[in-house]
Amino acid sequence: MGNDYKSTMNLPQTDFPMRANLATRENEWLARWDEMDIYGRSIEGREDAPRFILHDGPPYANGHIHMGTAYNKVLKDLIVKYKTMRGYYAPYVPGWDCHGQPIEHMVEKKLGPEKMAKISQAKLRELCHNWAMGFVDVQRTEFKRLGVRGDWNEPYLTLNHSYEAGDVRVFAEMYARGEIYKGRKPIHWCKRCHTALAEAEIEYADERSDSIYVNFSFTDEVPGFSAAGMPVGVLIWTTTPWTLPANVAVTLADDADYVGVVADGRVLVMAEALVPAVAEVAGWDEVTLVLDAAGEPVREKGRDLSGLHYAQPVHEGVTGVIITGDHVELTTGTGAVHTAPGHGEDDYLVGMKFGLPMPMPVDDNGVFDIGGGPFEGLSVDDANPVIIEWLRERGSLLASVSISHSYPHCWRCKQPVIFRATDQWFVSMEATGLRDAAMAEIRRVEWIPGWSVNRMAGMVGDRPDWCISRQRAWGVPIPVFECAKCGETVATPETFSAVEALFAAEGADAWFTKEPSEYLPAGTACGRCGGTELKTETDILDVWFESGVSHTSVLDTRPELSRPAAMYLEGSDQHRGWFQSSLLTGVGAHDAAPFDRVLTHGFIVDGDGRKMSKSVGNVVSPIDVVAKSGADIVRLWVAAADYGQDVSVSDEILDRTSEAYRRIRNTFRFLLSNLGDFDPATDSIPADQMPEIDLWAMAELADLVERVTTAYDEWRFHVVYRAVYDYVGDLSSVYLDVLKDRLYADAPASVSRRSAQTVLSEIVAVLVRLLAPILTFTSEEVWDFMPAALRDADSVQLTAWPITQPTTTEATQLRAEYAVVLEVREAVTKALEEARGGKVIGKSQEAAVEIVAPAETVALLNARGPVPMAEFFIVAAVRFVAGDEVAVTVEQADGTKCPRCWNVREVGSDERFPEVCGRCASVLSELGAN
Ligand SMILES: [Zn+2]
Ligand SMILES: [Zn+2]
Ligand SMILES: [Zn+2]
Repeated sequence: MGNDYKSTMNLPQTDFPMRANLATRENEWLARWDEMDIYGRSIEGREDAPRFILHDGPPYANGHIHMGTAYNKVLKDLIVKYKTMRGYYAPYVPGWDCHGQPIEHMVEKKLGPEKMAKISQAKLRELCHNWAMGFVDVQRTEFKRLGVRGDWNEPYLTLNHSYEAGDVRVFAEMYARGEIYKGRKPIHWCKRCHTALAEAEIEYADERSDSIYVNFSFTDEVPGFSAAGMPVGVLIWTTTPWTLPANVAVTLADDADYVGVVADGRVLVMAEALVPAVAEVAGWDEVTLVLDAAGEPVREKGRDLSGLHYAQPVHEGVTGVIITGDHVELTTGTGAVHTAPGHGEDDYLVGMKFGLPMPMPVDDNGVFDIGGGPFEGLSVDDANPVIIEWLRERGSLLASVSISHSYPHCWRCKQPVIFRATDQWFVSMEATGLRDAAMAEIRRVEWIPGWSVNRMAGMVGDRPDWCISRQRAWGVPIPVFECAKCGETVATPETFSAVEALFAAEGADAWFTKEPSEYLPAGTACGRCGGTELKTETDILDVWFESGVSHTSVLDTRPELSRPAAMYLEGSDQHRGWFQSSLLTGVGAHDAAPFDRVLTHGFIVDGDGRKMSKSVGNVVSPIDVVAKSGADIVRLWVAAADYGQDVSVSDEILDRTSEAYRRIRNTFRFLLSNLGDFDPATDSIPADQMPEIDLWAMAELADLVERVTTAYDEWRFHVVYRAVYDYVGDLSSVYLDVLKDRLYADAPASVSRRSAQTVLSEIVAVLVRLLAPILTFTSEEVWDFMPAALRDADSVQLTAWPITQPTTTEATQLRAEYAVVLEVREAVTKALEEARGGKVIGKSQEAAVEIVAPAETVALLNARGPVPMAEFFIVAAVRFVAGDEVAVTVEQADGTKCPRCWNVREVGSDERFPEVCGRCASVLSELGAN
């Protein structure tokens, strides 16, 4: 049976679409924002407001965006938009990292080896430039499509001239302070890519190596052991036989006991603690030690053997020396460590301490030069078996075992790298106290999540000096000169200024096309020999140095920004990348970290917590998700995730996100559909005329605003999401359900209906703001459909955050009492369901309900009264009885079902409208009177 009274009811009506169709419609909002210059509008006129500068860490301009970069950018956008709504001046200047080896590598691959061999450095740089700019455009379009607001027309690029000038400024300052030095030092070297690699560019993978035990014969008398009357040698152990040509020393543990094992007519000196392990490898059934006159094994401390000489194992007529060091472990090997200062960090440090030479017989290609002796011309990869065989022939090899161990590999070409001493530029962690100063700044800065401070402090606390030079083409040159005559470095405030001016005007390309005499002040000369012919340094800066100086090149340079930034926000891998290079250059050049706050988020993984990879086939592309479901789904997923750990994404997770989105959208639609005839300016009802249920709804809303605002302020966006999601669920299932009768059936302009609409308009106005930073498209759509009087800006992005009012005791009391009422309501709802199932009643409005509850609960219910409570439970009538526990009885209510509102009531009280209930009769009479 249809409802004949339909035309007399206020049924919901709205053009706000049920189906979002985000994938298509989001583009309309993007066009509108472009047209209205939403970014410009978001900062204009706010110069005097409190500042919140979130400084963008530049993604690499190579390839399309992926879930990780999308997550990062959306998270930033969410914060910037929130801060803007809170009244802050919050500019956001996106950036790109445009230099570096991966781009050079791609260009190289495209050219092929033949063209590559013929190309000039300038042309190569031009191709790299074009490649980077191409991907800046690609990523800009993709980031914008996600709804991210920022200065997309003028992003910062590390290849901008002004940016490159900033590189020089920071380098010059750090150089002047004595923080930068040129040194020979073993560094990770990729012989395939021809470059030094930073720790951040190293990946560890298992590798099989030959570990060998080699006897180095002493050339000096050895106290204790020579008495045996046999040749004496020290037994060393190494996993890198190819480093033996560079051996200059053997390091022993200072305080360990060394004994002499008699084997094959000679004495092998080794740590006593390791004799059993060596015996097993060497296949000795029993061990014979050199004994003293009393028949006790001869034991010498490492320090007592220090200073003795032995025959260098490869180079005839050359000797090495015994030293002692802290890095000698007595867990593997022999306790006698082969030491080649050019091939290892520990070796380098101990070599410095003892003033050892640092021979480097391996060239850039990883091939032995003349210093390799008999192995000259061999590559180090081929040399191992040859050297082992060579040692075996000479009787020096005791044993050779193949072992598997973790070994550093190049992040680009995945080949094992070597440790090799070359001339490099370094930032010293100690010379001027940079490490201590950086550690002090780490303690000043706020780290989110809190534990990340330990990660950062640990990394800075024990990092070696920072090698900032690279032997590549695509980057910013190390801005110093070398005297052509004597090789002295020429770098003065005057030369740095000239280079800075050159880069500012023409970019770093000019370094490769101009002669120094064309831009250096006349008369620039070598400080040592007075020579005036200067050569440019050919190495370029580590890209981490480049991106790290954005505090100077961007924050200090752009008028709308300033240093320190309020926040840096990147994935947790940047503790050893950008955060660290920003910190070290910030402290190094300006004595301060360039940020007050650092937020890090986890990696993006699949639904099972696995890394995404093409080969596993679990890659989710943000571009695909946007095309299928819309950017707001990506954004909701970002907000919902707890970034304190790795963040999962999969089709299933995104489906759940879409489901949550629909719940939110439907709620907005319901709210808007009941506000079509409501003008908040003239129709609002003051609180003192509202029914208590509406006051309760207002108190709940105020509580939501407070909790959500706190969560935003604490950067806990998944808490924001949870709070809103749960609120929306409760709202639909309780308050909005209860309101339907009043909204649809009461007289349109009645106080009761206008009161409900007043609350609904408050809810929509609040909810649209709370969600605006997250659902940037949908909130704008809702904004358009809201009653005009609720809109105080052309865009929800430009409106203010809901005001949080201090919670009143009345509100707290009301929420506490309704918490009890809601528990009763749950019991009632359950009983109604059962009654419906048992055909006791049809709709809940037909039910008469008796509620047994503890006396204090009954008192609460009675205080509200049976009529409002019947409305709240959506039943015809309700009765309260004091008892022990909550129990609900349901029966068919007396009375007749009103054909207009379907409530079971007394009908016929008004003779003009004999078939409807009293409320409906008075509404009809009022409508008829109109
Ligand atoms: Zn490589
Ligand atoms: Zn000179
Ligand atoms: Zn009725």
